[in-house]
Amino acid sequence: MKDSFEPELAEWQAAQRMRRRRQVAPAVAPSELGADDEALRGTTYVIDGQTRLSFGSNDYLGLSQHPALMAAAHAAIDRYGVGATASPLVCGHSPAHEALEVALADRVGLPRALYFYAGYAANVGTIPALVGRGDAVFSDALNHACLIDGIRLSRAELQVYPHADLDALDRLLAASTAQRKLVVTDAVFSMDGNVADVPALLALCERHGAWLMIDDAHGFGVLGAQGEGTLAHHGIAGADGVAPAWQGRLDRLIYMATLGKAAGVAGAFIAGEPSMVEWVMQKARTYMFATAAPAVVAESLCAALQVMQDEPWRRSHLQALRERLRGGVAAAGLPWTLMPSDTAIQPLVIGSNADALQVMAELDAQGVWVPAIRPPTVPEGTARLRISLSSAHTLAQVDQLVAGLREAARRMAV
Ligand SMILES: *Cc1c(COP(=O)(O)O)cnc(C)c1O
Repeated sequence: MKDSFEPELAEWQAAQRMRRRRQVAPAVAPSELGADDEALRGTTYVIDGQTRLSFGSNDYLGLSQHPALMAAAHAAIDRYGVGATASPLVCGHSPAHEALEVALADRVGLPRALYFYAGYAANVGTIPALVGRGDAVFSDALNHACLIDGIRLSRAELQVYPHADLDALDRLLAASTAQRKLVVTDAVFSMDGNVADVPALLALCERHGAWLMIDDAHGFGVLGAQGEGTLAHHGIAGADGVAPAWQGRLDRLIYMATLGKAAGVAGAFIAGEPSMVEWVMQKARTYMFATAAPAVVAESLCAALQVMQDEPWRRSHLQALRERLRGGVAAAGLPWTLMPSDTAIQPLVIGSNADALQVMAELDAQGVWVPAIRPPTVPEGTARLRISLSSAHTLAQVDQLVAGLREAARRMAV
């Protein structure tokens, strides 16, 4: 093994592809935060021993350390203990899981939802449950890796269309003779922050008799008046149900969203037409052959859904932070630009890998942590800082980031 893997690792290292985990913990334990240091909650971490203001998490609403979620978790542990003990199809499905699924379906305005312990498991389990040999899956070029893995596992034919190019997708669908056609796309693209044109995609799928699966990992909680996600953003469906123009037209839709990002906890769900959801529950191997998430996770998520509804300021504040960042970056005259994005993901395109790493290092030296994203995760020459905003951030913290960028640009111009 050593003879096999030591050279592999050396090559990996030489290609600058080696990844390293950092040890990250809240700078102050959330249960010990006082009124004076509330701005640290969900924003300030000790990363490998150094205190840093972080713009790297997917905790878009700042719920991961929210007192209501933490209280719900404590109560759930007292009631259920810590482990789910079995697959949901054996004896791992608790009243907490059941209540969560009902609340999730209500929130997104679709008839039924199914909770998975992880988004990766949801995608890798759902796609092979829906399609197989003789079918075709049409996948946006920028889709998340776990959608691609799900498609490969399904053994359906994979057809990749250029990012957001609906004309190209139209042509591929028209030319396909596959039995079942499934279009799969991120609803909010994870490295760019842009939102897919779901109404146009649904219309296209209607024309070609295809199904549409959208992965709303970065939209759920963030978009929509009550955090319902991308469907509400486009006026299709939400907490008030399906919009009149879309009634009877969502049978072909498989909605998927994750719950470890804006919802602040862990897991994911699919939602849609009840027989489809039932079929996925019967067939998805990642659902059947894995131990259920503990009830404490489900109870924490029920509390998260309540907070999303009760604290709409989290979304309006996120909007204010976004405007502050975009205004600040524009005014700073930086050599780099933010990609257009209405979401919490605000990528700053730097260009070369070396420059992106250097900007990251300059910020780090100033106590601000933003991850650099390099190829192959993003296209060659578009290495970027993936700035992610959270409702937990203050406007002053965004100003600190902008000042850091200005200083980095000044030092790198020398
Ligand atoms: C994070 C993510 C996933 C995976 O979800 P996990 O719950 O982290 O496993 C799936 N799809 C997209 C688009 C994601 O960003």
